[in-house]
Amino acid sequence: AKTAGRDRYVIFDESMYADALQEAEARLSLEQALADNEFVVFYQPIVDLPSGDLIGVEALVRRLHPELGLLGPDTFIPLAEKTGLIVPLGQWILTTACTQAAAWHRDVPGAERLRVSINLSARQFQDTDLVQDVAEALRTSGIEASRVVLEITESLLMQDTDATISTLRRLRELGVQIAIDDFGTGYSSLSYLRRFPIDILKIDKAFIDGIATDPDDATLAEAVVHLGQALRLQTVAEGIENADQHTLLSDLGCTYGQGFLFARPAASAEIEALLRHPADA
Ligand code: C2E
Ligand code: CA
Ligand code: CA
Ligand code: CA
Repeated sequence: AKTAGRDRYVIFDESMYADALQEAEARLSLEQALADNEFVVFYQPIVDLPSGDLIGVEALVRRLHPELGLLGPDTFIPLAEKTGLIVPLGQWILTTACTQAAAWHRDVPGAERLRVSINLSARQFQDTDLVQDVAEALRTSGIEASRVVLEITESLLMQDTDATISTLRRLRELGVQIAIDDFGTGYSSLSYLRRFPIDILKIDKAFIDGIATDPDDATLAEAVVHLGQALRLQTVAEGIENADQHTLLSDLGCTYGQGFLFARPAASAEIEALLRHPADA
């Protein structure tokens, strides 16, 4: 560190400099990836329980790196959030997913009611006029707003609640639905749930994992499904991997399910084939 002498040098050590440089480079490389069209939106089916009929898809972003191949969101979303690039990237994802779903509504017989769920990061709530951005994506894609679900995490709801409630209200006025993602992993206070204008609870995979083998997990999952029912919310169980979990969740009255048992996230062409020929799946 520099000594703060008469001229009052700013304290700035080499490791801070290295971090800042690394972050600037990382942001630049992500910006370049966005400009080079390296990001791809995959879609994972969401099904009705118990029938297993496909009712919607969740948009999940990937990066097709020229040398490293297909990269999952865990490798770039945290960095995109830290550097702020999540704002333009998130807007691109929103527009891409809405445009794709609108095309399926138009072109695929029987897919008129398909929903598309899109993940929003906390940063998108804070940094931009999110409502304007969502309205813009709805307009350019021409999608029916009621088919769009915006997923936000439980922890986002706990920050800055008044501003969050007002943003959620304005989003809902556009006609979209709001889902709480990873429900059960954040704060355990339930009273706040009633304050938020939401439509859907997504039960985190952590609770679903042990549902068929661990009585405590089963009790917790049951409690969340019943909580959703009491608040007249739809419930989506995430990370269903086997038939026992499927049966148990159907019996509990959970509305929808998502997981490798039904389908993995896939590129749009693969999802379109599934929409056109559901019997082949
Ligand atoms: P998430 O929103 O909770 O998404 C569900 C994750 O669980 C996805 O991982 C999905 O592939 C995975 N999954 C679904 N079913 C199963 C299953 O049966 N078993 C297992 N083991 N995993 C399952 P993915 O695509 O790697 O995404 C990870 C996280 O990255 C997402 O968690 C979300 O927080 C974030 N993310 C993904 N796409 C976006 C995006 O477009 N925007 C933002 N802001 N975040 C995104
Ligand atoms: Ca999600
Ligand atoms: Ca989730
Ligand atoms: Ca998660």
